[in-house]
Amino acid sequence: MNLTIDDAKILLKKHFGYDDFRSGQKEIISHIISGQDTLGIMPTGAGKSICYQIPAMLFDGVTIVISPLISLMKDQVDNLNQIGIPATFINSSLSSSQYFKIINNAYNGMYKIIYVAPERLNSDRFLDLLNKIDISMFAIDEAHCISRWGHDFRPSYMEIADVILNLPKRPVVTAFTATATIDVKNDIINLLHLSNPFVLTTGFDRKNLYFSVKSPENRKKFIVDYIQNHLDVSGIVYCLTRKSVDMLYDTLEKLSISVSKYHGGMTDKERSLSQEDFVYDRTSVMIATNAFGMGIDKSNIRYVIHYNMPRDLESYYQEAGRAGRDGDFSDCILLFSRADIVTNKLLIEQGSSERTHSNEISKLNDMVDYCNTDKCLRKYILEYFGEIPSFSECHNCSNCDSEIEVTDITTDSQKILSCIKRMHERFGLALVSDVLKGSNTSKIRSMGFNDLSTYGIMKDYSKDTIKDLISFLISENYIATVGEQYPVLKLTRLADDVLFNHKSVFIKRKIEKLSDKKSKSMTDINYEDFDVDLFSILKDVRMDLSKSLGIPPFIIFADVSLKQMAKLYPTNSEEFLCIDGVGDYKLRQYGDVFLNVISRYVSEHNIKKDDFLNLQNKKGTEISYLGTGKLEHDSPEVDEKPHKEDTKIVTYNLFMEGKSPLEISNIRGLTLNTIQNHLIACFENGLPIDLSNYINLDAKDLVFDAIRKCGMEKLKPIKEALPSDISYFDIKYFLVCFKKSQEF
Ligand code: ADP
Repeated sequence: MNLTIDDAKILLKKHFGYDDFRSGQKEIISHIISGQDTLGIMPTGAGKSICYQIPAMLFDGVTIVISPLISLMKDQVDNLNQIGIPATFINSSLSSSQYFKIINNAYNGMYKIIYVAPERLNSDRFLDLLNKIDISMFAIDEAHCISRWGHDFRPSYMEIADVILNLPKRPVVTAFTATATIDVKNDIINLLHLSNPFVLTTGFDRKNLYFSVKSPENRKKFIVDYIQNHLDVSGIVYCLTRKSVDMLYDTLEKLSISVSKYHGGMTDKERSLSQEDFVYDRTSVMIATNAFGMGIDKSNIRYVIHYNMPRDLESYYQEAGRAGRDGDFSDCILLFSRADIVTNKLLIEQGSSERTHSNEISKLNDMVDYCNTDKCLRKYILEYFGEIPSFSECHNCSNCDSEIEVTDITTDSQKILSCIKRMHERFGLALVSDVLKGSNTSKIRSMGFNDLSTYGIMKDYSKDTIKDLISFLISENYIATVGEQYPVLKLTRLADDVLFNHKSVFIKRKIEKLSDKKSKSMTDINYEDFDVDLFSILKDVRMDLSKSLGIPPFIIFADVSLKQMAKLYPTNSEEFLCIDGVGDYKLRQYGDVFLNVISRYVSEHNIKKDDFLNLQNKKGTEISYLGTGKLEHDSPEVDEKPHKEDTKIVTYNLFMEGKSPLEISNIRGLTLNTIQNHLIACFENGLPIDLSNYINLDAKDLVFDAIRKCGMEKLKPIKEALPSDISYFDIKYFLVCFKKSQEF
């Protein structure tokens, strides 16, 4: 039978609930269903799984998926079963009775997709199964694991080609990875014996990710502040060492933040419990070393912060790329301290062989350049992965949103260099900084460093700043570090030029243009994008379902699907099916629950829905999908945006004519929530307006107290801290009053 891409598209909607393929998916699927071996190279979150799952459903026989990640298999299989795709997994987590049952079912043709770890290919029982059932396709996920050049080489991947060769009939062989280097690509093609493969590398751009590099004075404080402002979303903080993970975890826990941690020093059980808490949204923050992440598929991670600079851009992009898999806006923040260069160099010295050493150092240098560049960060990443971006500035990263400030640090540099000289170039970063700071320690006293003229010469600087300046001078080769275990600071020829030949030293700092950044960050709540109250109710419904069904919330619905529901207010099956992520199966399983809640909300709040189809056209303009181009797509409805000011004035004028918010909502055919937001905006902008008839004025003191406790950034924590009869409208009103009172 000739399979076509239209057949594939029908399954895309029916099972996955999506209307269109993302860029690359269509081409890859077309080639696979025509029977050609295929290699798909796409970034994390681009949607590789669908590329083999849909062909698997179209083919007659069974698809074997090789995946290195046991922890991921269960989630993937749960997900597939949820949407009506008969799938299973076989790995070491199964009891023997479960294993035999699955093998038996497989003989009886009960599955279309079977996930296995590569090690399973050594089992005779499994090989026997492979010889007896009709296998249409072998799909090799994380295919870079076959290459020694890849960052997680798995020797058992080398066996795959032999197993395929010995099958009674050669299936289509497909491979997928996010690693784009030529060496890895060639290894995959050769070692898997792909035959005349179709190879597709999609763009590596992730438009929904906002990249930023920051060097805050106090990284810990930055993390705490950021997390406190993002309590209601999920995020990961990556650290270089277990010690930093423990330290940050303890700090956040003391602040009663729901936090998990993950590193190699914990037991398997502790790690898997911790991971589960995070995946099931029982905790909102994960503090981890790079050991965490390969095994998770959580799609609603809204931020990934790197507490330290990782050792190469491959690791960075993979880890940061765990944010925003659902296509919704997310932050990727790298906190850069020059001391990380020294730590990474040490780790490389300790861990690498002669063969890989220079390669690793050169990758580290590229990583440092990323942190130092004043050019577009997105462009830098894309060029690093071999792409030629079509833009020179993305206007969606911290560098595009920053101005560069150049500072002359010649005097500070002279102080540091001369201190190192006076200490006879025999000590490391910590002691030199202590002497410059003027620390009163027994070591300094016993060595007589408190008598040096440079003792305390930088006492007005924080120790972190001093260390940062020294690290800068190291990275710019004014200072060399000698020795592995306890590196000693030595002066170079360049240092002599600064000390004796009037050479100046400059440092560049980025100053973020806050107002621009704010409008793009995912942290900004735009009340008009979706109904925040309904979204929060739908999240609770999803959480209840997750608990009763024992599956992670994001498998029930991604955040983006809930946001669309909270924007479009679907109240019948037909409308529900228009939501991205709702296909026949999700409609059947969850339609009633969600439609009931939305219908009740719509009638209780007297919401007048706009024409659903028109709204439906609009949905792609606010929610960005990877690579579909929807972000750039000109919808006829988006013209609401330029007239936002006008639309508020229309509301204002009606209000001043004596109409109530509810009446205006009916007259204008906009939600009550939108009208209330218009009125709040007018009030905030200083227009003469009296809202007192519609506000619970007695709530003022309570709301002010809650704002003081929870901060001004997010409404939800404030709402949760208050009695339920105090509405969001009241809170928004008093928030403006609070801000105004602070201005005086
Ligand atoms: P990858 O394996 O490339 O990291 P996934 O296959 O896990 O990415 O897909 C990431 C997310 O994108 C998933 O939530 C998936 O459901 C979603 N997705 C995939 N294809 C589409 C599509 N065509 N339209 C909308 N969402 C999609």
